[in-house]
Amino acid sequence: MSEHAHSHEHPHAHSHAHSALGHAQSSASVTSSAIARQGTPLNQRPVSPYTQNPTVEEDGFSWPSYGTRQRAGETPEQHEERVKRLAGAVRTILEEIGEDVEREGLLDTPQRYAKAMLFFTQGYQTNIMDDVIKNAVFEEDHNEMVIVRDIEIYSLCEHHLVPFFGKVHIGYIPNKKVIGLSKLARLAEMYARRLQVQERLSKQIAMALQDILKPMGVAVVIEATHMCMVSRGVQKTGSSTITSSMLGCFRAHKTREEFLTLLNRGR
Ligand SMILES: [Zn+2]
Repeated sequence: MSEHAHSHEHPHAHSHAHSALGHAQSSASVTSSAIARQGTPLNQRPVSPYTQNPTVEEDGFSWPSYGTRQRAGETPEQHEERVKRLAGAVRTILEEIGEDVEREGLLDTPQRYAKAMLFFTQGYQTNIMDDVIKNAVFEEDHNEMVIVRDIEIYSLCEHHLVPFFGKVHIGYIPNKKVIGLSKLARLAEMYARRLQVQERLSKQIAMALQDILKPMGVAVVIEATHMCMVSRGVQKTGSSTITSSMLGCFRAHKTREEFLTLLNRGR
């Protein structure tokens, strides 16, 4: 055995719903020499490390990953190389599941999947200030609750790399600053296009809004279906998982009730 063995109780083990279902935790023991590595907020202890890092870094990235800056800054040639490396790995997967990588239907699959995977994770290279928020924060004397509901999201469960998808509802009470409504959807999209757990996705959207707008409070609710659960029989088909993150005045019972009442109105 060339690599050292990992115990199951490795230091990055998280306590969340997934681990309770016996999902394998894995840690990367092989580092590709082709990609320079940097520290990442998700690779530091303690257990909820991203909350201890700034929401937005100086260059405008929000909780960047190891490869965020390389991906965001690469040339078309470097992008081609990345797609090639990814396609090679996909080819290995096809071989290992016992498929014939030379048969017609699969010939372009590695390349196709590599590109799809980069699309599914493009939120890593999105710059929250330049690409998402831009100049869409306005001074406004509005201080009533703003709610955008039913924002569709498609994300990838970080434990199985299979989709979870559903709807995000975002509410906030402004404090002299409002944000263009379409930006709320863009924000949810950015964090969803990363490897995620639903709890973190809720919290990251809420924390980012809190940080950028300094509102009286923020509420984020996500209802999602996880393919890793429904397709493996862990959960019945059609069931969904609901997570929420309430900050500021939404932690008060009355405000939260108002939000949830408005959210359900007309359904
Ligand atoms: Zn999963």
